[in-house]
Amino acid sequence: MNDVYGRRFKTLRVSLLHHCNLGCVYCVAGESELKQANVSGKEQQLSGAQLLDIVRRLHAQLDLDTVRLTGGEPLLYPGLVELVKGIRESGISRLKLTTNGFLLERMALPLAKAGMQSINVSLDAIDEEVFVRMSRRHHVDRIIRGIDAALEAGLAVKINSVAMKGLNDSQLLPLTEFAFSRKIPIRFLEIMAMGHLHDQAHRFLLNRDQILEILSSRYTLQPVDRAMAATARYWKTEQGQVIGIIANESEPFCRDCDRLRLDSSGNIYGCLSSNHPIPLQLEESADVWETKLAQALAQKQLVRFTGSDLSMLHIGG
Ligand code: SAM
Repeated sequence: MNDVYGRRFKTLRVSLLHHCNLGCVYCVAGESELKQANVSGKEQQLSGAQLLDIVRRLHAQLDLDTVRLTGGEPLLYPGLVELVKGIRESGISRLKLTTNGFLLERMALPLAKAGMQSINVSLDAIDEEVFVRMSRRHHVDRIIRGIDAALEAGLAVKINSVAMKGLNDSQLLPLTEFAFSRKIPIRFLEIMAMGHLHDQAHRFLLNRDQILEILSSRYTLQPVDRAMAATARYWKTEQGQVIGIIANESEPFCRDCDRLRLDSSGNIYGCLSSNHPIPLQLEESADVWETKLAQALAQKQLVRFTGSDLSMLHIGG
């Protein structure tokens, strides 16, 4: 299934649940939202067996290359290790996870043993005070121990940091130094106009050029060619260390986007810009799913992300 621009779904992002143990400023607006975000909600959450069935059927219809598990916070999902095993057994070649890393120290080895290959850890500060400002939780050291445990377990690890003007700009160089000390790539994300920031993300936007300017004060950066359907553009330092920027605003990547999203209630979305959920039911036929997948593909934007009232907490980051 291709659209007129040759785009098709090859990567599935599965949001396992929509609560989290952090309250990051881009996902969660204030104290009352924080309480809601931190508790297991009334969401109609699919069981591991149901999720696995959906993933298997989508793989049969789309011949997926990659599944990425996310949330909410995916390490809070009961039965995660079993689910990882099941997805690996279904023949998906690349299985990845995006996490805040808070529970990673004890989960890294079981996940690696179950067949997880690669983990992106979201980390927006190294300094504890800035970390608390960004995430509303203490103990950045837990995340650092989680990253070290993941590396020890043999997992490929990348760090993702959302760069926010006036909030964590002081952390770009310390985060990069930390990543380089562990010999892992780091990617900085431009803030996206989502959820409670839908109309005011521009106030916090640190754009690609501004991020590059900060990084270039310490490193000499050479651009690297962009891979097909990649969200990030990469640069290499003279020592061969890798820095990426996911520049959703400055350099949108809709044109060859290959992502399909599945939320924790079984809805699919073809694009972050569209909040319009398309519910999949397991009892429906492959033909019905084909029609729904075509609807999801038609949601893709051609040029750029146009914003969304839905927070990544709900649709999956
Ligand atoms: N809890 C997991 C984590 O922290 O990685 C997975 C879900 S979380 C929504 C995934 C990531 O989405 C965040 O860490 C952040 O990088 C990204 N994100 C969420 N809202 C964003 C926004 N408005 N702009 C840019 N990135 C955002």
